Amino acid sequence: MTYTLETQYTSKNFTPAAQVPAIFGMPRTITGITIHHWGGLGQLFETVRQWLCTNNVPTSAHYIVQAGLVSCIVAPENAAWHAGTARGNATTIGIECRPEATDEDYATVAELIRDLRATYGDLPLFKHSDWIPTACPGVWDLPRLDALARNQPPTEKDWFDMANLDDLKQAIRETDNEKFSRQGSVGGQMSKQDFFAWFDATMASAVRQAASAAAQAVLNTPIPRIGGGTITLATMAAYSDANREAGQQVQTSLVEQAVKAALTDGTVKVDVSVTGGK
Ligand SMILES: [Zn+2]
Repeated sequence: MTYTLETQYTSKNFTPAAQVPAIFGMPRTITGITIHHWGGLGQLFETVRQWLCTNNVPTSAHYIVQAGLVSCIVAPENAAWHAGTARGNATTIGIECRPEATDEDYATVAELIRDLRATYGDLPLFKHSDWIPTACPGVWDLPRLDALARNQPPTEKDWFDMANLDDLKQAIRETDNEKFSRQGSVGGQMSKQDFFAWFDATMASAVRQAASAAAQAVLNTPIPRIGGGTITLATMAAYSDANREAGQQVQTSLVEQAVKAALTDGTVKVDVSVTGGK
């Protein structure tokens, strides 16, 4: 086992095996495991252990578990008081789990389940709420625990069943930032996010180059001239530009000539008098 097993603490709250038939109406048998959580987030393992050993409510469990640490406070042979029903108490082993339920907590609870199954057979898992109406065992996910205890990774279905939208978004973000090995001569690692950014930039640049090359090709394609022979669009455009410039030059020089003529032959005076209305 990879966890520390404490056996030096014993709860006063349990029914010895021999008295179980009289108290619960059936013999002590071990045919299942009931999973609990101890409820208050942030509550310490040691505080819970102390309370389950000494309270007068009366309440107990067989095991208390957090990552790497297991305390057996009632021997499984006897009936701890954890399920809230005679059958739950008489027939199952009760495990109190840390409500924070981290991956490490899961690993240790799963290992304890594996060890108990090695001793008592293939025990099914029950939630406390399978026995009585209660919020216990909180977020603890029994299919995930069962899969871990059997050394199987949780199936995709289990994962989607327990994941909410925020979990999924977070998982996708984590996948985006996860680094992947790069192939070939480049080597090293790159996240999916970086890869897509690089891919988008490269594609955009390739599209720009292709568009520019296509436009050049069209401009340089010879087309037939009305008067015979061929001309490219580029040449025609240059020709048209030149014509336009030539046309502007002609217009400009015509205006200049008109102004000069007006200045030298007195036409301006006539014009001014006309526009002045006299
Ligand atoms: Zn419970």
